[in-house]
Amino acid sequence: MKYCLIPLGCQMNKSDSERISSVIEAMDYKYTDNEEEADLLGIVACSVRQRAIDRVYGRIAKWNRWKNKRSLLTFVSGCILEEDEKKFLKLFDFVFRMTDINKIPEIINHYGVVIPAAIDLQKNSSSDIFIPSGVDNFDEGFWDIKPRYNSSFEAFIPIQNGCDKFCTYCAVPYTRGREVSRSSDEIINELESLVEAGYKSITLLGQNVNS
Ligand code: SF4
Repeated sequence: MKYCLIPLGCQMNKSDSERISSVIEAMDYKYTDNEEEADLLGIVACSVRQRAIDRVYGRIAKWNRWKNKRSLLTFVSGCILEEDEKKFLKLFDFVFRMTDINKIPEIINHYGVVIPAAIDLQKNSSSDIFIPSGVDNFDEGFWDIKPRYNSSFEAFIPIQNGCDKFCTYCAVPYTRGREVSRSSDEIINELESLVEAGYKSITLLGQNVNS
């Protein structure tokens, strides 16, 4: 079984994608960058950038056409506002918040392998447990997942998640929740292991790093 994951938007989405990949690969899926050969197709979306949202609609329209010909499971996650989430639930097989990343195996097992004839049935039987509601507090266990780094020489290290400021023009507090900082020890441990592995460029990430 193969999966293809497409991160859109900022570096934080790219970093989150590396942890999603780890969870999916623990289920024995192999990564492919060729959407056409993937059994599992996912997008890490961004409600902040209109272009990123437009690309989600373009992708899912194509993937849903493919479902007429082959078995396929689709999902979307990322920085998604509630209004976009409601629309995506009608188009994707499942939508999850980053705080629910550890539920991915449970969700995929719930769906099993999708055959075209079962799509409508499964869409109608979508369980509420997979429908996000409100913004949960960020679970610090998220950072315990070892990322599947996409590069052998440059890496992202998230040092916090979310924001408490609620600036009028920004979606972050509504999509990623309140500010949660990662412990310095944890950040330094990840940094040291990357340096030992020969990484040359390491970027610390956060939405609001002032704390
Ligand atoms: S401080 Fe930055 S991340 Fe937080 S709400 Fe304002 S613009 Fe968004």
